Amino acid sequence: MAIIIDGKAIASEIKEEVKQEVEKLEQKYGKKPALAVILVGNNPASEVYVRNKKKNSEEVGINSWQILLDEHTTQQELLTLIGQLNNDNNVNGILVQLPLPSHINENEIINAIDPVKDVDGFHPVNTGKLVIGEDCFIPCTPYGCQELIVRTMPDIKGKHIVIVGRSNIVGKPLANLMVQKNNRANCIVTVCHTATKDIGYYTRQADILVVAVGKANMITKDMVKKGAVVIDVGINRINDPENPGKTKLVGDVKFDEVYEVAHAITPVPGGVGPMTIAMLLKNTVKAFKLQNNIAINE
Ligand code: NDP
Repeated sequence: MAIIIDGKAIASEIKEEVKQEVEKLEQKYGKKPALAVILVGNNPASEVYVRNKKKNSEEVGINSWQILLDEHTTQQELLTLIGQLNNDNNVNGILVQLPLPSHINENEIINAIDPVKDVDGFHPVNTGKLVIGEDCFIPCTPYGCQELIVRTMPDIKGKHIVIVGRSNIVGKPLANLMVQKNNRANCIVTVCHTATKDIGYYTRQADILVVAVGKANMITKDMVKKGAVVIDVGINRINDPENPGKTKLVGDVKFDEVYEVAHAITPVPGGVGPMTIAMLLKNTVKAFKLQNNIAINE
């Protein structure tokens, strides 16, 4: 039986560290990190994520601004707002909740955020730095996955990580992160996607398997090597067979059966999700330090 990786508990530890750091910064510099989160439109899932980000920011003492915009907001209006936030010294982190309404070009919006305020780590400057192994803002979900992996498997040098999914927000940045030559990575990296013919052929070779696809219960027991560490990023809402008329959240991994073969596995919910927010808070503190010329390790 696998160890269940308690993302919620690990995220709480990180949040406590961030809280203490924010208190120290406030005592020493008389100001606190601030995060502006922009939501365009009324996507119910995005509304929950944005609320959660605000709540968690406030819990650790980060100033949090929620900017809720009408779904008809134009590209230009959004660009103007981002320009104002870029120039506002009281704002350290800017996050635009994705997805945006279809009339807005996401790439153009991401490109408009000042890279030193890009706490989501999606700006091409941060993406490029990640690829070449320079210090940067690491996208929060891959950063959270890495944290869970290194805490579960301390010596990961030379381990084979197989990532299923190659999105710009999870799969690709995680692959770039884990291939770096440092003691939190140094892995052999394989990435699978829709053009991969036999996914099981690859996943069965994984010492570490990360799944970020968005297909409920896609990874079954026969696709996992005995003793693997399994990180399930997927969040899927399905009808709950045990409660007719109700729904529940599940991951991309068939938890009940993979649990029997894995060394360790993240649950959904309570695995990667809370880590994503914890890493956002860490990135916001980092942004504050960078903008105030404070050493990152202070
Ligand atoms: P995307 O839809 O952007 O990307 C999905 C990826 O999975 C694509 O690369 C796609 O391949 C691949 N894929 C889809 N179907 C298959 C298949 N049958 N076989 C192999 N590969 C497949 O999703 P995201 O990366 O944004 O999110 C993935 C999941 O993670 C979602 O459930 C999302 O809700 C969740 N998520 C959770 C977060 C958290 O904090 N816990 C944060 C972000 C996402 P191709 O490129 O070829 O199309």
